[in-house]
Amino acid sequence: MDIEQHGAFAITPNPAPLSHDARAAQMENPAWGRVFTDHMATLRYSRDKGWHDAKIEALKPLQLHASAVSLHYGVEIFEGLKAYRLPDGGAQLFRPDANARRFANSAKRLVMPELPVDLFVESVRALSQIDRDWIPTADGASLYLRPFMIGTEETFATNPSGAFLYCVAAAPVGAFFSGGAQAIKLWVCEDYTRAAIGGTGETKCGGNYAAGLPAQAEALRQGCNQVIFLDAIERRWVEELGAMNVFFVFDDGTLQTPPLTGTILPGVTRDSIITLARDMGYQVNEAPYAMDQWMADAKSGRLVEAFSCGTAAVVAPISEIKGNNHNFQIGDGTPGAITTRIKTALTDIQFGRAPDPHGWCQRLF
Ligand SMILES: *Cc1c(COP(=O)(O)O)cnc(C)c1O
Repeated sequence: MDIEQHGAFAITPNPAPLSHDARAAQMENPAWGRVFTDHMATLRYSRDKGWHDAKIEALKPLQLHASAVSLHYGVEIFEGLKAYRLPDGGAQLFRPDANARRFANSAKRLVMPELPVDLFVESVRALSQIDRDWIPTADGASLYLRPFMIGTEETFATNPSGAFLYCVAAAPVGAFFSGGAQAIKLWVCEDYTRAAIGGTGETKCGGNYAAGLPAQAEALRQGCNQVIFLDAIERRWVEELGAMNVFFVFDDGTLQTPPLTGTILPGVTRDSIITLARDMGYQVNEAPYAMDQWMADAKSGRLVEAFSCGTAAVVAPISEIKGNNHNFQIGDGTPGAITTRIKTALTDIQFGRAPDPHGWCQRLF
């Protein structure tokens, strides 16, 4: 079998990759995050060896001891970024260094080793390149890359782990919300909170999602797509969705998004939108916004648009809010003009249809 090298990563190609036709069939309208590429990247860490054993090989189940600390104590962090197909047939990553830095911050918060930014970027580059045929060409589709790290030390003791596995898997994806560009409905969660000051709200860790599941289940029962969480102290301030940041657009053309005060995940999409909106001449305020105010402003017409954003769904216009104490529509319920303009500007850069004035994109091939 061929063994090659991609930087630190020893490559053992999948001996039985999917045929061209089988891959094409799987990539035709794949259910989001349920179709996977032929390979994965792995890297191990131990106290005495540091980072070692960097590999690209066939995607396969992980083997873990029953006492591995990630299984018991939630020692897990993850990232999400995408490889985008370009008009000339090439492909590029969008701000992988920003994901790498956030991954290192998440690691620090959970007393896990910080993966150097270069190794993180190299791992996603190496995987995207060997699985290049899995980067979709369909409109709006992309290859979603999922780097993650788990504690693998074999012990029921609750001390910080000394052994870790870093892994990247990848999935070709289309639109996150079925129906594509349609606007989404949000359920206002007033009983559960997502994050408290001093907790892990700004950490991209699986535990945050597990704790938010009953709220997400309630949202789905209420006919909504996602939850909007309020702050844990006053249950008054809008924070973010279960997996996306939120923006408000006012009738004077200004934008607002809640500030990063420790309980909100610092989205790469959020950051990119703030920059692009300012480039376009919009004023963007990072300031707290009360749920009651949101409702009053939507009813008075002062608030004209709202949208959520994240790597997976990019920009999702919000059409309607439902809750025990808050029920209102945003604008006329259809995607707003400024929301659409911002989404177009961002996706044009990601898919290489527009210049990249901030140097965000890294070409793969
Ligand atoms: C990942 C995530 C986001 C969005 O971050 P992006 O970097 O834009 O993808 C927002 N909120 C939460 C809770 C997240 O986990």
